[in-house]
Amino acid sequence: MFADVIVDIQHEKLDKIFQYRIPEELESRLQPGMEVVVPFGKGNRQIKGYVTGFSEKCEYDLSKVKSILSISEKGMEIETRLIALAAWMKEHYGGTMIQSLKTVLPIRQKENAKVKKHLRLLLSEKEGEEKLAFYRKKNQKARARLLEALLADRLLDYELVTGKLNITLPVIRALEDQGVLKLESEQIYRNPVQQGTQQERTITFTSEQEQVIRGFREDYLAGKRKTYLIHGVTGSGKTEVYMEMIHTVVEHGRQAIVLIPEIALTYQTVMRFYRKFGDRVSIMNSRLSAGERYDQMMRAKRGEIDVMIGPRSALFTPFPNLGLVVIDEEHEPTYKSEQIPRYHARETAIQRAKEEDASVVLGSATPSMESMYRARKGEYVLYEMRHRSRMQQMAKVYTVDMREELKNGNHTILSGKLQSLMEERLERGEQIILFLNRRGYSGFVSCRECGHVIQCPHCNVSLSVHKGGKMVCHYCGYEQPKIRVCPECGSGFIGEFKAGTQQIEEMVRRRFPQAKVLRMDMDTTKKKDAHTKILSAFANEEADVLVGTQMIVKGHDFPNVTLVGVLAADMSLYTDDYRSGERTFQLLTQAAGRAGRGMREGEVVIQTYSPEHYAIKAAAAQDYKAFYEQEIRYRELLGYPPAEELMAVLAAGEDERLLETGCKYLKEYVLRIKGKAPLEVIGPASPGVDKIKDIYRRVIYIKAPEYRTLIRVKDLMEQYIEINSGFAKLRIQFDFNPMNL
Ligand code: ADP
Ligand code: ZN
Ligand code: ZN
Repeated sequence: MFADVIVDIQHEKLDKIFQYRIPEELESRLQPGMEVVVPFGKGNRQIKGYVTGFSEKCEYDLSKVKSILSISEKGMEIETRLIALAAWMKEHYGGTMIQSLKTVLPIRQKENAKVKKHLRLLLSEKEGEEKLAFYRKKNQKARARLLEALLADRLLDYELVTGKLNITLPVIRALEDQGVLKLESEQIYRNPVQQGTQQERTITFTSEQEQVIRGFREDYLAGKRKTYLIHGVTGSGKTEVYMEMIHTVVEHGRQAIVLIPEIALTYQTVMRFYRKFGDRVSIMNSRLSAGERYDQMMRAKRGEIDVMIGPRSALFTPFPNLGLVVIDEEHEPTYKSEQIPRYHARETAIQRAKEEDASVVLGSATPSMESMYRARKGEYVLYEMRHRSRMQQMAKVYTVDMREELKNGNHTILSGKLQSLMEERLERGEQIILFLNRRGYSGFVSCRECGHVIQCPHCNVSLSVHKGGKMVCHYCGYEQPKIRVCPECGSGFIGEFKAGTQQIEEMVRRRFPQAKVLRMDMDTTKKKDAHTKILSAFANEEADVLVGTQMIVKGHDFPNVTLVGVLAADMSLYTDDYRSGERTFQLLTQAAGRAGRGMREGEVVIQTYSPEHYAIKAAAAQDYKAFYEQEIRYRELLGYPPAEELMAVLAAGEDERLLETGCKYLKEYVLRIKGKAPLEVIGPASPGVDKIKDIYRRVIYIKAPEYRTLIRVKDLMEQYIEINSGFAKLRIQFDFNPMNL
């Protein structure tokens, strides 16, 4: 056996694992994650390393492999625990150890923390005044100006002095030499949370909130660490509950991580945490630079903060004494990584909590099928919060059958019901959200005569028409001018098919010329901060109507919105994904949750071509239980997660023939394993998009009742792929319980 070791992670680029021999006396004690001392380089310099795992064969020239010198007894540093977590992730999600380590460990970036410099006045006021008079007498203007500023404010920013005051460094040095001031510098770790007023308001918890808070506290004090699922309607006060739970662990000297989908990580949310925990809170988001992110990680490690809020990657915050991980909106697909290792933040959080004796809280108005299934089996503690915290009613929902609208001669995308409710709102000065699960000006271009759809030549997806008239591929960015004649049959009846957000915006402007309309989708939020600007403009009631894609229905609190229109509920329903019913139910419920957050009652109009579909019916009735019961029966019947476990084997390659042969062999290999294990093999099939940037893709699905069976199959397949050179030109990846295929 050989030990795999990474060395000195704080300083070296994390790009290689080294192998070392294990001395006999250490053999029984050595564990992954342990800190060891190893000889390194030509001079056999003794350096620190971490054991990441063990291998049976050695990748290097055996005569050159050195031995581990000793185990460092300090042991359980945070790195150690994160390395153990990385090893677990590699095991559970595939990929290499390096890929897992890079996901989990904070890696120092080239960009260093900013050095902040300032000038400090060393003289007393009286001495200063005398000196100032002296400079004035000598007509030393710059010196006088600087001293005057320092007398007004004894500590000045270096940038301010050299910028606004226009003082040069020699002048500063001269005053320093005369003992007037001191030039100080400090390494500051940037804190991205702007200082705000810290005023905590007191609320009286509802009995539902009280029950969860007390339950958690009792468990916590009794040393019981569990996973809790809070199923609470939007506005039931889940966030207040999380903050109270965090308070409990922080009180006991431990830290908390709060995961929030990036899109819902609003200023409002951050400020609520900031008000409660002051500058012991930090946030992580994609707008921070790599250096800033590293700084935040280091602040966490040094114990300068207690609470880290951020998207998926914040899960790996190196807190020395983690007490709690909260995952808000736990059903969100963004908690699953689309890069190797394709980990799910929920499962990984539960694993980290297990290693570090911490608790996990999952919260959602529409829990994922996985979490509810586990809660019902007793693996998680389930709490239900059925009522809104501030006496508001749940919104009233209408379902409109769009086929009937068509029959009645309404060919527009706004049903009669929606139009009349909009009119009412505009008269009363209340706000409206129109929601469409699609981006861009419009959908695909098709021929009404022969049905031909214009597709990207590099990806098998349809091109979308943008307002300028160009046709664009959303996968690879390919563009071409708009087509006027069908390339298949020559017909002139070719055009855009479905409505997009831009088209709805225009339609609303035409129908309600008096209304002010804002639009929020991928196209209007490309610029930095555009997202926040649109939302705050709408929150400040600078517009009557907000039209947008799913990014508008998450997490925001607009008290004056009393009407939400879902324009085409079916858009997320008919995709070739077994989760489409669940996705649709979640989106519709979230959209409904946007209406009536203030004092007035909200109304929701769901427009659909399939009003009889159970996901739409349950969403309209705001009945999670009805949805769950129906959906779980279907998953059990068809053997989909969470009833069974599913692994996708993704194969990709430039040569389609080679890819197909490779897939055939892979499938045959899995069928041979199947003789010994209860497996079901489906495919190879073309995934939704079967060619991206001229690379062909195929997928094989493998189902099994147990997750560990799939891990075993993955391990065997990895070995098989490695020893057969036929796979060299193919790229094969594994995806457990995939989200987007
Ligand atoms: P959720 O996270 O479940 O959507 P929030 O915690 O955001 O709910 O609560 C919704 C709103 O109600 C927030 O403005 C919050 O401050 C307020 N709120 C929550 N609990 C209470 C309470 N017990 N009393 C008064 N207001 C509350
Ligand atoms: Zn045609
Ligand atoms: Zn393309």
